[in-house]
Amino acid sequence: MPSPEPEALLSTVFGFSAFRPSQEEIVRAVLEGRDTLAIMPTGGGKSLCYQLPALCREGVTVVISPLIALMRDQVRGLRAAGVEAGALTSGNTEEETEEVFAALDAGRLKLLYMAPERLGSSATLPLLRRIGTRLIAVDEAHCVSQWGHDFRPDYLRIGDLRKALGVPLAAFTATADAETREEIVARLFGGRTPATFLKGFDRPNIHLAFAAKDQPRRQILNFAAARKGLSGIVYCATRAKTDALAAALREAGHTAIAYHAGMEADDRRLAETRFQREDGLIVVATVAFGMGIDKPDIRWVAHADLPKSIEAYYQEIGRAGRDGAPAETLTLYGPEDIRLRRAQIDEGLAPPERKAADHARLNALLGLAEALSCRRQKLLAYFGETAEPCGNCDLCENPAEVFDATEAVRKALSAILRTGENYGSGHLIDILTGTLTNKVRDRGHDQLPTFGVGRELSRGAWQGVFRQITGQDLIRPDAERHGALRLTETALPVLKGETRIELRKDAVRTAPKTAVKTLVSEEDAPLLSALKAKRRALAEAARVPAYVIFPDRTLIEMAEARPGTLDEMARVSGVGAKKLESYGAAFLEVITGARVEMHPARRKLAGTEEGSLFDRLEEVQRGLVRGLDGTGKYLSCTHTTLRRIAETRPKTLSDLDRIGGLGEQKLDRFGKAFLEILSDA
Ligand code: ADP
Ligand code: ZN
Repeated sequence: MPSPEPEALLSTVFGFSAFRPSQEEIVRAVLEGRDTLAIMPTGGGKSLCYQLPALCREGVTVVISPLIALMRDQVRGLRAAGVEAGALTSGNTEEETEEVFAALDAGRLKLLYMAPERLGSSATLPLLRRIGTRLIAVDEAHCVSQWGHDFRPDYLRIGDLRKALGVPLAAFTATADAETREEIVARLFGGRTPATFLKGFDRPNIHLAFAAKDQPRRQILNFAAARKGLSGIVYCATRAKTDALAAALREAGHTAIAYHAGMEADDRRLAETRFQREDGLIVVATVAFGMGIDKPDIRWVAHADLPKSIEAYYQEIGRAGRDGAPAETLTLYGPEDIRLRRAQIDEGLAPPERKAADHARLNALLGLAEALSCRRQKLLAYFGETAEPCGNCDLCENPAEVFDATEAVRKALSAILRTGENYGSGHLIDILTGTLTNKVRDRGHDQLPTFGVGRELSRGAWQGVFRQITGQDLIRPDAERHGALRLTETALPVLKGETRIELRKDAVRTAPKTAVKTLVSEEDAPLLSALKAKRRALAEAARVPAYVIFPDRTLIEMAEARPGTLDEMARVSGVGAKKLESYGAAFLEVITGARVEMHPARRKLAGTEEGSLFDRLEEVQRGLVRGLDGTGKYLSCTHTTLRRIAETRPKTLSDLDRIGGLGEQKLDRFGKAFLEILSDA
């Protein structure tokens, strides 16, 4: 049998009309059997890049993926699309495992998902040899990096497995930094550079916003309140905070749970599964909540504390809106965050170069937090991409008001220097504003020339100045001296009056109330809710996450396009042949409010050219049921026969006869008319 064409499978199996630009190249490289490393943003559509080649290629593709729950959902999703896939994990029931082996022995299985733990077993290599493994796909390939918090020691066995099997390997990750990439190449590919694809970091559907911490808990509660009923994640810097904030959210009427690495493994798994399955659950988590989630319809991500680096920020917000539908983010930050993150770096065990790089990554994030114009432009610039102002970030929507802060900053810097770089911002602000506290008096700081030189700004404004110049890395808290502020090299030109500096006026403003973006217009909203309700019912009946039935984006398209027939339904992105057959009618009934009457034989052809051929055949047949003069004996072909004719498109009467089911009389009555239609097609 010739291998199926990737484009054909893209629409029949996955229901997509076209590859995304980056997917096409990657799929081609994988199909050609090249070693491949693809770095694509979350939601970029990595899975398709190995699933599709797996279907086109001979033999079995083994997929190594770090999380059991995630693998099981992928397998469910593939099965729902009619693909022979199975998983071997410790989460399997005996029956499931038997089923996988039966499918392998029968040579039916195309994709075998495997937990990395299995690679440690001596039975694995012979198994993979026996079943005809032709390709290894590695999901979340950055798990091989010892520096990341996602490190999985078992990933280190993959390199040897690849060598032993002598098959190509395709590795996928969303982690962009160069060090991680090098580690992946060294460990998975034995140092031989694979075909590498690094692209498209923009996630235009994700709205970006930062706000200085004001009343952080209130800020998060407000943000969540405006998005009630939508799935979201709140990231916190500490475990204790996750519990407290989850409780506060529950009190405010949300369904919210905490998640952190200190929890029992079972509880963590339960939380992951619930999040994956339930609509509208909020998880309040530390960064430990990351890879376990493969939920495409997360509608918002909030940071209650500043992430540790620009990469971490990108990855964490990137968990929202993988389905391409609008998603929103809010990142809070304050001086204590900056202190904490700097201290974590300084106190870590990494070598000095690594520490310096980590400070730079934190600086890049602070620069983003204190940006004065389009955040997306800045974020993408960090990843080496240029872009126009996006119109989908808080600064595009509400441009920052800036003022020339050169004088103010010089006063602040000189207060730091004159007190020997020994104090934090609170005491320094007392000096600047001329506030006579005991501490000021005891140290004689009321005698300094800087005492009271900053009365023109309020305390709040000074806090804004200190936060912003910390963000711009003019000053740094010293972890070894209880956060005493000291100047960095960057401060010198400002201090000497060589450069001017602008800061935002509204540094401590309360975040503007941005209207919540709705997924569809008001007009389509009720239909979308109805479609979601249908999806929930189907998902619950099948015991799968909602998006395995259809992702949000597909429902949104349905609500907007309002297909009136199964043929039109088939044109909606995400509706492949198998899903159309399983769920098409159910959703169509929600849209049209009428029962879908379509013969199963015709339903199989919905959305295809054969489908419209079928309709034309049926139409001429209707005109001829009693012959040309309308007085003949009633004759008609079955739907199954018509379908076979539409599918095989015979060219001659004898071809038509060979299809069977017609017989001499019907061949006589319809044959010529049918062939005419077929010859035009
Ligand atoms: P990643 O693993 O890169 O985070 P996924 O593979 O989960 O992303 O894909 C993200 C979403 O994009 C999924 O909902 C998927 O169905 C959808 N998708 C992938 N490829 C296409 C495509 N060519 N056209 C439309 N949607 C796509
Ligand atoms: Zn913007």
